[in-house]
Amino acid sequence: MINVKPDIKFKQQLKKVSKSSLNECMQCGTCSVVCSLSPEDKPFPRKEMIWAGWGMKDKLIGNPDIWLCHQCGDCSTYCPRGVKPADVFSAVREISYQHYAKPKILGKIVNNPKWLPVALLIPIIIISAILFMAGTLQIPEGPVNYSKFFPHAWLNSSFSFLWFLTIGLGIVGLRNFWNDMKKQNPDSKPTGNFIRNLLSIRKELILHSNFSACSAQKTRKIAHLLVFYGFMMLLLVTAFAIYAAVTHNYPLDFTNPIKILGNAAAVMLFVGLGIMITNRIFNKKDFGNSTYTDWLFLISLFLLTISGVVVEAARFLNWDLAYHLYFFHLICVWFIIIYLPYTKFGHLMYRVVAMTFAASINRKLKA
Ligand code: SF4
Ligand code: SF4
Repeated sequence: MINVKPDIKFKQQLKKVSKSSLNECMQCGTCSVVCSLSPEDKPFPRKEMIWAGWGMKDKLIGNPDIWLCHQCGDCSTYCPRGVKPADVFSAVREISYQHYAKPKILGKIVNNPKWLPVALLIPIIIISAILFMAGTLQIPEGPVNYSKFFPHAWLNSSFSFLWFLTIGLGIVGLRNFWNDMKKQNPDSKPTGNFIRNLLSIRKELILHSNFSACSAQKTRKIAHLLVFYGFMMLLLVTAFAIYAAVTHNYPLDFTNPIKILGNAAAVMLFVGLGIMITNRIFNKKDFGNSTYTDWLFLISLFLLTISGVVVEAARFLNWDLAYHLYFFHLICVWFIIIYLPYTKFGHLMYRVVAMTFAASINRKLKA
C-alpha cells in the first residue's frame, strides 16, 4: 500500500530538466529488463517512472537506486514510448544537489544559468578581498612570480579553509540523504559500520566495472576513468605543491616529477573530457539530454585544466597577462573545488554514499 503524495511543482521541474514526457510511460517494464545493473528484487527504473509520473518527490529524492544507475542510456534507447528514463534519473540527481544543498541559496545560484553572473561574482569578490588583505592586489613588476601576486600562505590557507567549509556543509547534506534513504527502505535496516561498507565497494570505485555493462555508450568507461584518475592525480599534485610551498621549494622545475605528474594528469583530463564533450554534442541519441548542470561541470573542469596549462606556460615565457590568467585559473579552481557539493561534481559524494548504503542493506546490482 503506497500513500501517494503528488508534488506538482516537483513534477513540472522534473519535466523541465529531463525534457521527458513523463505521462507517456505505459509501464511496460522494457527499461528494467534491458538495464544491465538493475537488481531482480525491486528493479529500476520502471518503478521510478511511475513515481515520476505521479510527481512523488518523497519516493525519488533519497532513493539510492537513482544513484546506482550509471547513466548508460540503454533504457532510453529501448523505451518504446521515447520517455527517456535515463534522463529522468539524471534530472532527479540534478534536483537532489539543490535539495540537499546547505545553504540552499548556493545550490540555486550554482545550478541556474540566470544566476551565473552571481556564481562568478562570489569568487571574484572573495579572491580580490583576499588579495587586498594580503596587500598584493596589484600586478608585480619583473619576471613572473605568482607568489608575489598571491602569497602561498594566503592562497593555501584561504582555499583550504573554504574547501573544508563547503565539504563540511556537503557532509551535512549527505547525512540528510542517508536518513532519507533509511526512510525509503524501512524493511532493510543498514548493517555494519559505514567504513566497512565503504571498503566493500572499493573494487567498483577503483575499476568502475559497472560502466562495462553499458551497451549503448561504449566509450563512457574510458572517458570516466581518464577524468576520475586525472583529477585524483591533480589533487595529489596540489598536495605536493602545498608541501613544496610550505618548505620553500616552490615553484617546481619543469622536469620535477611532480610537474610531470601534473602535466600527465592534464593530458588525461583533456582526452577524457574531450570524449565526454564530443559524445554529448554529436551522439545525443545515446547520451540523452544535456542540461546546464552537465555543461557547467564539463566546461569548468575543461577550463580549469586548460588554464592550469596556460598559467604554467605564462610563467615560463613571462607573459604580460600571466597574473590575469592566474586570477582566471583561481576562479576555475573555485568552481570545481569550492562549489563541489553543489554542482554535478557532487555525484562523487552522493554516488559513493548511495553505493555504501546499498552495500549496507545488501542490495546487489545485476552486473
Ligand atoms: S519508461 Fe518506457 S520502457 Fe520503461 S516502463 Fe515506461 S514505457 Fe516502458
Ligand atoms: S541509464 Fe542504464 S543503468 Fe541507468 S537505469 Fe537506464 S539502463 Fe539502467
